Amino acid sequence: MRLLVTGGAGFIGSNFVHYWFRQVSRLGEPFVVVLDALTYAGRGENLESLEADVNLYFVHGDICDRPLLDQLLRQYDIDAIIHFAAESHVDRSIAGPAPFIQTNFVGTFTLLEAFRVYWEEQQSPAHYRFIHVSTDEVFGTIPPEIASVTEDYPYQPNSPYAASKAGSDHLVRSYYYTYKLPTIITSASNNYGPYQYPEKLIPLMILNSLQGKPLPVYGDGQQVRNWIYVEDHCQALVQVLLKGLPGERYNIGGHTEIPNLELVEQLCDRIDEAAPQLPMRPCRKLITFVKDRPGHDRRYTLDSSKIRDELGWLPQVSLAEGLDRTITWYMTHRTWWEPLINIPKDDFY
Ligand code: NAD
Repeated sequence: MRLLVTGGAGFIGSNFVHYWFRQVSRLGEPFVVVLDALTYAGRGENLESLEADVNLYFVHGDICDRPLLDQLLRQYDIDAIIHFAAESHVDRSIAGPAPFIQTNFVGTFTLLEAFRVYWEEQQSPAHYRFIHVSTDEVFGTIPPEIASVTEDYPYQPNSPYAASKAGSDHLVRSYYYTYKLPTIITSASNNYGPYQYPEKLIPLMILNSLQGKPLPVYGDGQQVRNWIYVEDHCQALVQVLLKGLPGERYNIGGHTEIPNLELVEQLCDRIDEAAPQLPMRPCRKLITFVKDRPGHDRRYTLDSSKIRDELGWLPQVSLAEGLDRTITWYMTHRTWWEPLINIPKDDFY
């Protein structure tokens, strides 16, 4: 398949491109075009370690640029889009929602429309795919009496970020029902792993611990999240791309549901073990409670039995193993994160 990966220089997108070249090259010669606007969250160097001779083409551009999309789809003969490009940070969406509406909603619309026209021009090939990478946040906060939510649970987005993703999900769905465009929507839980921008919870806590800075925990820290190691998410997306059915939705959740405070405590203990030379130990001493985020959802939880039963996917990496891998990655990639941490965003995750 000849892939167009939007947002392929961001956290999950770049992990996906690495995973695709590592795993899928066994099935044939991979061919990937990455389209990325290189916002603050996108970094060309996330793809640098891929060998120069792989079929990877990087295009610096915006998913809202329709003439560019029209050109790329035809020039590279694309048959599947994996759509990661988004503004992705909830706190930023509260401080300034406009870019979220522009990229997540208008951008997804522009991409859908360009792909539809191109697909119809090619006589609507059945194997073409538009994979829309979405989030569990579209379902809003899940009350404790509900064990976990399936793909049919009603949407109740509570932040501008979640609302912009929910809107884009509805557009993607409508392109399947109206035009029969072979779209698939995935809703993943909280990802963590290498290349995640340090404003997000896990990298923020790791990097602040390594520097002896406070570890800011919102409110009472009892917000429950389901965590998935990014490589497991990438593996699920490959299954969806190769075996998923057009018009379907798939939840992609990890093994572990855990309150934020407990997660931070686990991280602290693991960092104490991984970096015994740190002056500020135990790292738990650094935990500081800060004013809660407005509209902060108390609980997300996904039922991923559909992708397990229909596509045979299960997450492989336990939370403990994933946290250790992530801590090791940040400890051994200082040159990646050092230029980013002077940005004064200490209260963000
Ligand atoms: P990220 O913020 O790390 O990366 C987003 C990428 O998109 C960046 O490389 C950025 O430069 C690019 N981008 C932004 N606006 C663009 C535009 N207009 N045109 C082209 N490129 C643009 O985000 P992420 O965490 O890797 O998330 C990727 C996708 O996965 C998003 O759609 C997000 O909603 C979804 N998702 C993320 C998580 C998570 O925990 N991180 C969970 C579920 C779903």
